[in-house]
Amino acid sequence: MTAPQISFEFFPPKNLEASFRLWDTVQVLAPLAPRFVSVTYGAGGTTRELTRDAVATLHKSSGLNVAAHLTCVQASREETLAIADSFALAGVTDIVALRGDPPQGAGHFTPHPGGFANSVELIQALAETGKFAIRVGAYPDIHPEAASAQADIDWLKAKLDAGADEALTQFFFEAETFFRFRDACAKAGIDKQITPGILPIENWKGARNFARRCGTYIPAWVEDAFDKATRDGREDLLATAICTELCSELIDGGVDKLHFYTLNRPELTRDVCHALGVTPKVALQNVA
Ligand code: FAD
Repeated sequence: MTAPQISFEFFPPKNLEASFRLWDTVQVLAPLAPRFVSVTYGAGGTTRELTRDAVATLHKSSGLNVAAHLTCVQASREETLAIADSFALAGVTDIVALRGDPPQGAGHFTPHPGGFANSVELIQALAETGKFAIRVGAYPDIHPEAASAQADIDWLKAKLDAGADEALTQFFFEAETFFRFRDACAKAGIDKQITPGILPIENWKGARNFARRCGTYIPAWVEDAFDKATRDGREDLLATAICTELCSELIDGGVDKLHFYTLNRPELTRDVCHALGVTPKVALQNVA
């Protein structure tokens, strides 16, 4: 099995303690030489400044290739493009461009009166600047708002045709789900990189709630296995095994890039990466 190229998603810290946790996470995962690391943008645009600061600090001090998430939520076009410009000024030219979710409790997405109406408009505007490498979201289990599986893929194609370079998927539980999606994308004429998003399950209850919210199908065998493991106090062991197995199956099926949702907790992601043959890149002079 050839070791995959990997990338990691972090969220911006909201307080001092969380800042230390993010920094510890970066210390643990940076030696695995990720392709890039990305920093999320809080639902409802709630972490605008925190994201900008975390992105700029990581870029300056970690030496990693950093991608900033950016959404259309609750901001005018000018404001959104000004944030993108502030990323570029900080030297960050990779953007994960999303429509975004509304603030909690708001129900469904309503564009800001002077804002981008959808993700395609945002991607077009970012692409027109010529400054950014653009990644977008994709949904192997189908986005809850999609009219149909085909409509979801057609919309993904529109996002990639608008100037995005790569799609990062929502997490899913079975490799077959990704393979079906990859085949359907190829059939629709999508030839850009589609990278599976992987959620190492640190906390089953949290992961299950999150999956339900974003329409990710939870197979019965996963529910059963976590119920038993939780009773036996072996959740960590099961999480590592399930995640490693999923990644191995993806790699056996031709996947060479994986994007990990770390939730700023590095241990499980690190253990899975090690099991897949992604080990720290230690400079030779440090070994001698
Ligand atoms: P889109 O793909 O634009 O829309 C979602 C779905 O709705 C589409 O798949 C399509 O089926 C349908 N749709 C929407 N508009 C149209 C249209 N005009 N015509 C036809 N169909 C349409 N959220 C955050 O708030 N902050 C983040 O940092 C963040 N990071 C994420 C990273 C990744 C890799 C992923 C996969 C998701 C992330 N999200 C984040 C969640 C994301 O904001 C939500 O899933 C949101 O509901 C959709 O955003 P999108 O850009 O994927 O939407």
